[in-house]
Amino acid sequence: MDHFNLKDGVLHAEDVPLPVIADAVGTPVYVYSTATIERHVAVFKAALAEVESGTDGPLIAFAVKANPNRAVLATLAKAGLGADVVSAGELLRARAAGVPADKIVFSGVGKTEEEMRLALSEGIFQFNIESEPEAEMLSDVATAMGLRAPVAFRINPNVIAGTHAKISTGGSEDKFGVAYDRAIAAYARAAALPGLDVRGVAVHIGSQLTDLGPSRAAFEKIGALIADLRAAGHAIVTADLGGGLGVPYDPAKPIPPLPQAYGEMVRDVTRGWNVRLLFEPGRVIVGNAGVLLSRVIRVKPGVGDPFVIVDAAMNDLMRPSLYDAWHDIRSVSPNGADMTANIVGPICESGDTFAKKRAMDAVAPGDLVTFMTAGAYGATMANTYNSRALTPEVLVTGDQWAVVRERQPIEALIAADKLPPWI
Ligand SMILES: *Cc1c(COP(=O)(O)O)cnc(C)c1O
Repeated sequence: MDHFNLKDGVLHAEDVPLPVIADAVGTPVYVYSTATIERHVAVFKAALAEVESGTDGPLIAFAVKANPNRAVLATLAKAGLGADVVSAGELLRARAAGVPADKIVFSGVGKTEEEMRLALSEGIFQFNIESEPEAEMLSDVATAMGLRAPVAFRINPNVIAGTHAKISTGGSEDKFGVAYDRAIAAYARAAALPGLDVRGVAVHIGSQLTDLGPSRAAFEKIGALIADLRAAGHAIVTADLGGGLGVPYDPAKPIPPLPQAYGEMVRDVTRGWNVRLLFEPGRVIVGNAGVLLSRVIRVKPGVGDPFVIVDAAMNDLMRPSLYDAWHDIRSVSPNGADMTANIVGPICESGDTFAKKRAMDAVAPGDLVTFMTAGAYGATMANTYNSRALTPEVLVTGDQWAVVRERQPIEALIAADKLPPWI
């Protein structure tokens, strides 16, 4: 559920008409709804209310990569969420947004010594490490600082998530995690390293999961592994079940499992594990909480369907070109008529296509359109291809709104290039 609704024929973000934002800030612009973010946090928390998770309850660490805007992170921090980070930049952003260090988990296959030092000096909750060489590097860094790093190994359970190949992470050929069959040996070696406190297991098999079966299969393997690790003498006190829950993008497709069903599955599978559970949701918290607002530049007749050329492009929202992703496209002021069109941006690439042969609200030049469900993996993947400035972002609450990332002036983009002395 989201808070983007028609009122008096005009699409609003909560109580703010989208044309007000478009006129003041220009387009394209991302617009986020605080009420939607907060609702998703509440729903996710409620779904986990019944899971067994020690005395501290589950730690919900928002996957910062889904939406790292500081105002969004601060909203989530206020709601009690921690952060799952994958770089020094994300760690510093989470801290700057008020996420306490002891609610931060550091994931990722390529942590550098410098990033490890930063995270250790901040005192983060846990490192999720993904290989034996990484364990050795982290032990050396921690030892040199006189510390022991709290770690979990991310396990690759060799479960096929059944999602798009580019967001599938739990198959044995994917780069992520330690192979399930090597886990016992990896823990034995890591336990002997002086700079590590090996205390958990972690798993994350992919994103936009639309079926609970693969997650359940992965978690069942993790449960068996915890028992084996304990039998081998390791004190396992945390289990991080990752993120991955899907959100509805295409209203014609079946709705992905709701958090409540996910929570029931988790409660079932993890009963008796006797650990603190961690979760790393990203998309399910912010996906439906954001839209990309754009204006139609012109409508170009095609041999078949017309091309609706909008002022947003693949540099603003990469998901359609990267993942063949489907975003619902709506007119901000629908007039009741429909059209079938190809929706494209101005970039000089055929891949700069948001939708082909899409049945949608009829639009004309100058009209505003929204790409729905753009709050996750949207603005954060924006880039400046074709010398287009980074997309600004706006956060709405009730009838208030604020620019939470300004439109980068094109002059700043140009000034970042330096001419060498010989020109
Ligand atoms: C991307 C990622 C997540 C979040 O995935 P969502 O599908 O957005 O929930 C969680 N954990 C890890 C390790 C990730 O890489």
